[in-house]
Amino acid sequence: MAMLTPSVLLRTIGSLFGLALAAGCVTAGSSGPESIGAFQLGPVCAYESLRFDGSIGTGRLNGCRRDGPETFTLYIHPEDAPINPSSWYAFSLTSDTQTHLDLTLAYAHGRHRYAPHISSDGGQTWRTIDMVEGADTDRARFGLDIAPGTTLISAQPRRNLADRQAWIDGIAAMPGVTRTRYGTSEQGRSLEGLEFGAEDKPALILTGGQHPPEVRGAIAMESFVERLLEDDMLARAFREQFRVVLGPVINPDGIAEGHWRHNSRGVDVNRDWGPFTQAETRSFKEWIDGRVFPIALLDFHGTWNSVLYTSPDEGEGDRNWFPGAFHASLAEVLGEDAPARVQGHNAGSSVAKNWFHETYAIPTITYEVGDAVPLEAVLSRARLSAEITMRLLLEGPPDQPDDAQDGEIPK
Ligand SMILES: [Zn+2]
Repeated sequence: MAMLTPSVLLRTIGSLFGLALAAGCVTAGSSGPESIGAFQLGPVCAYESLRFDGSIGTGRLNGCRRDGPETFTLYIHPEDAPINPSSWYAFSLTSDTQTHLDLTLAYAHGRHRYAPHISSDGGQTWRTIDMVEGADTDRARFGLDIAPGTTLISAQPRRNLADRQAWIDGIAAMPGVTRTRYGTSEQGRSLEGLEFGAEDKPALILTGGQHPPEVRGAIAMESFVERLLEDDMLARAFREQFRVVLGPVINPDGIAEGHWRHNSRGVDVNRDWGPFTQAETRSFKEWIDGRVFPIALLDFHGTWNSVLYTSPDEGEGDRNWFPGAFHASLAEVLGEDAPARVQGHNAGSSVAKNWFHETYAIPTITYEVGDAVPLEAVLSRARLSAEITMRLLLEGPPDQPDDAQDGEIPK
């Protein structure tokens, strides 16, 4: 699982595209017509009036080739391989002029997955480009009109570590919220946790940021937490009866480096709950172990289509009804926009959902947000999810816990 060094990258590009590359073919920062057809090795590719920069936080750009005056191939590689094909890319594009560009994203070890998200206001607002040629292949081509200045191009709305830290700072400043540095990542970054609600009460555990590209999951987690902290009767009652323990950025190294999946040591941290070989998971466990009393876990992610992976209705524990009731309540409001529910438990599997379920005999949900869910809906559904969670945990099981829509046989 070696990092992609320039020489490895060159060989990979060469073998992928059948090109005989000699070191002399590679230019760095060359400009003018002679640069057409030449490679620049990323993350920064500079041309006379254009500059692609993948060295921004969460950035990912591994090289460029100018194929014509306004035509570029941009090479996107994962942090290591083999890897789950969450083909993340993110870079800024600075242009001196108004122009139309023809861009091809060329992936190694993956295929195009995420519609290009474009922001020309520094990440405040985003639009997506859905007209992508070769969208199911490893070479995805699209056209882009850009104005002079800097445009962000990203696989999902870009949330770098500073953005996520700013959110943590805002929450930590709210009354009743405690912030703890519960550990240090493999690369030495702070692992920060937040807690609020009644001390010594059963704790709702929330985790996020395990998989760097799953930004919609992170946005949902933030909206969920903000709803728990509102000053209305439901949220106040909830905070009087329960504790909330939150690890919002479990994998900061992967996020900082623009990884597709892994932490800095090439490990999927959501396959490390149980082995605890990585600082990111081990220190979260040590932070809560023997100190808090979990009653449920929601772990926030993103995937192709919205889905809830949940612990099963049957088995040990006294709140097994929770995931089914949670899903049924969502479906009641959202109808066909509700996420699907897949219940089950793979004993010994080292994802957070399974480890928390096995260790604490509590209901657990992996809350997966679809890659293309409109951002407004990500926010509103997460708020609704928080309200349902609070209501169900305060009031106990609903009268009719069985959800016929699941195709289950009512008891
Ligand atoms: Zn995930």
